[in-house]
Formats: sequence, structure tokens, C-alpha cells
Amino acid sequence: MTDPETSLPLHVGQPEPFRWEGIQELTYKEDGSPFRDVTRRVLFDAGHGQGVQVRYFEVGPGGHTTLERHEHTHSVIPIRGRGACLVGTEVFALEPHDLVHVPTWTWHQFRADPDQPLGFLCTVTVERDRPVLPTPRDLELLRADPLVDRFIRV
Ligand code: MN
Repeated sequence: MTDPETSLPLHVGQPEPFRWEGIQELTYKEDGSPFRDVTRRVLFDAGHGQGVQVRYFEVGPGGHTTLERHEHTHSVIPIRGRGACLVGTEVFALEPHDLVHVPTWTWHQFRADPDQPLGFLCTVTVERDRPVLPTPRDLELLRADPLVDRFIRV
């Protein structure tokens, strides 16, 4: 069953949980940004006509995403495992079906717990700016907050 106009499937099943038929696992980032054990899957894209992409990221046990910020925002819904995230200067424990809003130009990083993965959906606009990494000065300012200092991995 596909949409005759776009050939996109009307339904995509999961051969196993968190793995969708015909959706390939992608490298999280290929620009040299620092991260540990993260995969990416694009579930919905420009062709679906909403101007957004819905991605599924999976961070392996003990892994983390890149500490970054950018103009575009993220709407994040954890759906697998446990972990935590930094948003600005706040750290939040994450459980499935929580909601996380990453505002514009706000530092953020996601981590999985040491003993289990963290999988989350992340919606972004199709048209968006590139993430910016912290400069040494940014890191100095971030690390001035003990909570942030303990959390971040760079
Ligand atoms: Mn980001």
C-alpha cells in the first residue's frame, strides 16, 4: 500500500521493536563532531509534506550525542530505555514518553544510562541551520556551572 503520488508506504511495520521495515540505520554525524555510539533513522521526511523530519536516534549504553546548539528547535520524545539530557543549564532524567523541548540557540546533549540504550524521536524542520559546537570559551562558561560540568561529554 503506497501513496500513488509519492510512492511512500502508507504503513511501515517493525520486524523487531525500534527497527522499521525499509528504514536504514544511518551514521549519526559524519562531520567529525564528537559523539559516542549513536545511530540515526529518518522515519518521516520532506516527501511526507509537513516540512518536518522525524528521526529516531538510538544512543547505546553509556553513549552520548554531540553537545551543540543551533537556531532550529527540537521536539524530542524518548521511546526506549533510560537516559538524561542537558537543555541549557538544566539536566533532566528521561523516561519513555516524556517530552523535551530544545529552544533556539540552546546547548543540548543526550546521554544513555550506563546499562541501557536511550532511543528517542526528534522532530526538526526540513530546512534548518547547521549545529554549532562549543568554542573553548563556550566550554569555560558552560563548565562554570557544576551541574553542567559533571554532565557534558566533549
Ligand atoms: Mn541538535
